[in-house]
Amino acid sequence: MHIVTTKLYKLQEIEMGPNPDSKENKILIQHLRTEIPEPILRHYDRLRNTGKTGIAPVRNQSCTGCHMQLPVGTVAEILAENDVKLCQHCARYLIILKEDMEMHQQESIMPKQEPEPEPVKPEKALKKRVKKKPVKKG
Ligand SMILES: [Zn+2]
Repeated sequence: MHIVTTKLYKLQEIEMGPNPDSKENKILIQHLRTEIPEPILRHYDRLRNTGKTGIAPVRNQSCTGCHMQLPVGTVAEILAENDVKLCQHCARYLIILKEDMEMHQQESIMPKQEPEPEPVKPEKALKKRVKKKPVKKG
């Protein structure tokens, strides 16, 4: 995962969270903002000021901000962590979240191998009745 987008996403989570003005969150926000490059922050803030989210997770090859399909190349580049990418439709920053990483990497989902069910032994049915032999006394 790209380190800058990770921080940007974290920043957004706090800023859009239930309690962005709490003491700890204010410190966190300040700290994150010092670690994100200025031009990226500026673009992020511009988006946030228009009431949009500044960064959107990619899911099913689509930007979750505008729900438009993204080119395979863009998704591949985000996965390769080469560059910070913008959605070409809504200009949001794009991030592929850890939990969605596997989904994008394994396009074909392998069928799960389930253990073969053990054959049921018809124990009771096969139980032979042993006839008691008459014991000769003698
Ligand atoms: Zn978008």
